[in-house]
Amino acid sequence: MLGSQSTSSVIAASDMPPVAFTAGMRVAVLLPLPVATAYDYIVPEGAVLMPGDIVEVPLARRFEVGVIWGAGVGDVPPAKLREIVHQLDLPPLPEVLRKFIDWVAGYTLQPAGAVLRMTLNPARRWPQQKVPTAIVATGKSLAICGVKPTAAREKLLIAAAKGAFESAAALSRESGVGAAVIRDLIAAGALAVVEAKPISPFTRAKPDHGKPVLEQAQADAAATLCARIGAGFSVTLLDGVTGSGKTEVYLEAVAATLKAGRQVLVLVPEIALTAQSLARFQERFGAEPAEWHSDLTSKARRETWIGAATGDAQVVVGARSALFLPFRDLGLIVVDEEHDSAFKQEEGVIYHARDMAVVRAREGAIPIILASATPSLETIINVQGGRYGVAHLPQRYGAATLPRIGVIDMKAHPPEKGRWGRAWLSPPLVKAIDQTLASGDQALLFLNRRGYAPLTLCRTCGHRLNCPRCTAWLVEHRLTRKLQCHHCGYSARLPETCSSCGAADSFVPCGPGIERVAEEAIARWPDARVRVVASDTLERPSAVAELIEDILTKRIDILVGTQVLAKGHHFPGLTFVGVVDADLGLSGWDLRAAERTHQLLHQVAGRAGRADKPGRVFLQTHDPAHPVMQALISGDEDSFIASEVSARQDLDMPPFGRLTALILSGPDEGAVIAAGRGLAAAAPEGEGIEVLGPAPAFMALLRGRHRHRLLLKTRRNTPPQDLVRDWLARVKTPSSVRIQIDVDPYSFY
Ligand code: ADP
Ligand code: ZN
Repeated sequence: MLGSQSTSSVIAASDMPPVAFTAGMRVAVLLPLPVATAYDYIVPEGAVLMPGDIVEVPLARRFEVGVIWGAGVGDVPPAKLREIVHQLDLPPLPEVLRKFIDWVAGYTLQPAGAVLRMTLNPARRWPQQKVPTAIVATGKSLAICGVKPTAAREKLLIAAAKGAFESAAALSRESGVGAAVIRDLIAAGALAVVEAKPISPFTRAKPDHGKPVLEQAQADAAATLCARIGAGFSVTLLDGVTGSGKTEVYLEAVAATLKAGRQVLVLVPEIALTAQSLARFQERFGAEPAEWHSDLTSKARRETWIGAATGDAQVVVGARSALFLPFRDLGLIVVDEEHDSAFKQEEGVIYHARDMAVVRAREGAIPIILASATPSLETIINVQGGRYGVAHLPQRYGAATLPRIGVIDMKAHPPEKGRWGRAWLSPPLVKAIDQTLASGDQALLFLNRRGYAPLTLCRTCGHRLNCPRCTAWLVEHRLTRKLQCHHCGYSARLPETCSSCGAADSFVPCGPGIERVAEEAIARWPDARVRVVASDTLERPSAVAELIEDILTKRIDILVGTQVLAKGHHFPGLTFVGVVDADLGLSGWDLRAAERTHQLLHQVAGRAGRADKPGRVFLQTHDPAHPVMQALISGDEDSFIASEVSARQDLDMPPFGRLTALILSGPDEGAVIAAGRGLAAAAPEGEGIEVLGPAPAFMALLRGRHRHRLLLKTRRNTPPQDLVRDWLARVKTPSSVRIQIDVDPYSFY
């Protein structure tokens, strides 16, 4: 969790004087590279630069785009410094963003340049835009310009008088006169090429456009949120059951922020959720918000980036990296589904976007809303401790009620084998789907496992098909006829013979993935329209939009899907949810396993019965007495959460204590082991400080690299940053071994 502020190794942005840098002055330029400090450059003749300005500088034998971070402080003699090449025609990075970048770098123990890269990466590759121009009539007559009046010239002037034209081609189309005549009249002065105001790609939002009538509880929650707009930094949990109208409620806070003329950032955990959010924002504000995620075209990316910087993009809906956009005047952040672990970025700069969003709000002195039906323990504890405020929505909107949740003990009700082979659906679940289909409703079969089968083995010798580069089984995907590694992307055809014993046609799939469950559903309900849905079938937002349309218009009867369907979506016709394997995710050592399984099952159950028809949910389990199952069926989730909280407290686990993981990896296992021992020998010591490991990681091999882990455990009031910095400075590791630092780890692979 977030504690006291740590200092960054670059000059703190807050210490920068608000003055301009002029020719000959030494300035620090932070580059979007894995460097911890800014480099000094000299301001060239004629330039006047301010902190935050984006500039191009020479670096070795190439050029790089960087940001003026402050006055230069290095000890390189001025004569040896190189000059800035020029300033880019981009809005400067605001001070609050520069401070935020420094803070994130300090907290996550990543080089500041690597954090800056998240802001600058798209922009640094943009070609310099041409200033947009328009062709207009100057008002001078042909006679004044000294040209002979011809029919074509007259026609052209009449057309040009209608407005500004973006190009000669456009004016030619309008007038029916050729480009040569246009050139002549520009030369003569009857027409002129002028600088045009860029046209905004965004429509202005109308805060009261689709204002809903709120129910009493919703109005109260909205009032709580709106009261915090414009009142400085605050964190508020919007804790509402699935279908209670959390979105409608936080949109009121968005409206209040828009009325105050400030910008809003809404973070969502998955691209799959942006499509539906965009549509709802459009309905509510009569304008689509700007989008930000990895699947944008570079044009859309540029529009959102520039729009954020100019303030033209009033609302940005995006994935975690939207946090690093250069907002001109951000007035509110909303983190939707705040408990979602997709907010944790596990590659490159390892950071938790929800936690960093809270820091961004604090740096900007603005409110932040965390919305969820199943808030994270961290957030709940902050509410209990009075650090965060809370607004509750205890009931579903309108006539909708929460679904009834039941468990099916798989030991008592094993699936009956079908003509098609092994089965995964128990008789009570099959019966429930029969009834759902008979009443014309839709059913969701949920299994958080992509592909056909998680394991393929040789029936003759027992050989398992493993990824050659990872400690992982290859997953069979029948739709694409491939074996895939879900960790590194390796894929191969199913071999004809076993590489171990040579047997032919001997491979058998073990266990179910969604494709296999779909196979069973198609065999059992041949008349039903079955659709398999997973992250790999929904890569593009357009595919998501089509799927949602198909569900809403009832072109699908049975959905078989992974967690991409579990979150946020609102499907009124869906009345039944069957969880194929509720125990998945509970095994293995992960401090949040029970919490996460509970959140996921609660969320997926929350897809059922969101309109007027009541919903029903069955959880297939081998352990019906497990606290997670009991919490879900009894509805007494508070006791479950309380017991999770006290278990964490007893063990000093986050958020009561702090964890920092060090992951060592390299192609040579011996070197990795030696580096791990070296680190362990120099481990920090002190009261309440504990170092676990080194031990081989759960994924001992990933993408061909051997991995070992160390875990530093400290007390809540001991920020680990200085300890780790000092620790790493004391130990020399070979360059073939990479050390990744994960402050507040969520993944223990
Ligand atoms: P949640 O995010 O809490 O799961 P949603 O915001 O998706 O809930 O709301 C569920 C459904 O109820 C949506 O279709 C939403 O438009 C509708 N709804 C909620 N509150 C209202 C309201 N006050 N007026 C009209 N429709 C509402
Ligand atoms: Zn692999």
